[in-house]
Amino acid sequence: MAQVELNKQAHLSEHLTTSSVATLGHSSELDGSRLSPHFTLGELCKTSAKTQDGNIPSHVHIENLKRLCGWLEMLRKRYNERYVVNRRDVSTTLDMTKGVLSSRLSALEHHPFCHLERSREISPRAALGRDDNEDREEPIIINSGYRSPEVNKAVGGVATSNHLTGCAADIRVSGIEQLIRYATILLDISDESQEDFDELLIERSPKGSYWLHFAVRPSGNRRKVRLIQT
Ligand SMILES: [Zn+2]
Repeated sequence: MAQVELNKQAHLSEHLTTSSVATLGHSSELDGSRLSPHFTLGELCKTSAKTQDGNIPSHVHIENLKRLCGWLEMLRKRYNERYVVNRRDVSTTLDMTKGVLSSRLSALEHHPFCHLERSREISPRAALGRDDNEDREEPIIINSGYRSPEVNKAVGGVATSNHLTGCAADIRVSGIEQLIRYATILLDISDESQEDFDELLIERSPKGSYWLHFAVRPSGNRRKVRLIQT
């Protein structure tokens, strides 16, 4: 409760990556402020709940969100490296190779003495000398990050929720396969860095949709992993 009171006088801009002159009470002006290279305060504080308090985090909550976004950045990078950017390179190369092969095969019909040469595999982007992997990366989409007590109550969150302190994010998934990939990557990051997280939960709504709830606390992380938490 003390942190919530602190909110009303604090200047959020001091704690954000990009400079902002906005002060509390004007959350819309802060929405674009970056917590990390690919995540904004707006993304981590958005809510569909209709409440009076504006869902404004305190300095402490923002520090927690930034710590969490460090993990989300690593998740984003590794997911894209493993499943998006490199995979598309392979499929593009395969498509190109198929195209070259089929045109050479048709040429062969007219020139029966020609040998079929294996083509060099060059992606169109590499041929253009462009390194625009960034353009092709898939974002990590956050359904819910920080929740004020009012918002948490409105969405039916538990009173001890890590969302209340900016330590948790619900990560949207397109299906169970992506969910497992995200969870695996986060576990790998934890193992490799020897940094613990607090919760890695598959949460499900009564309607049956599910998402990955991931939480990191400043200290006392419990490494709770659960398959289903309704
Ligand atoms: Zn959650």
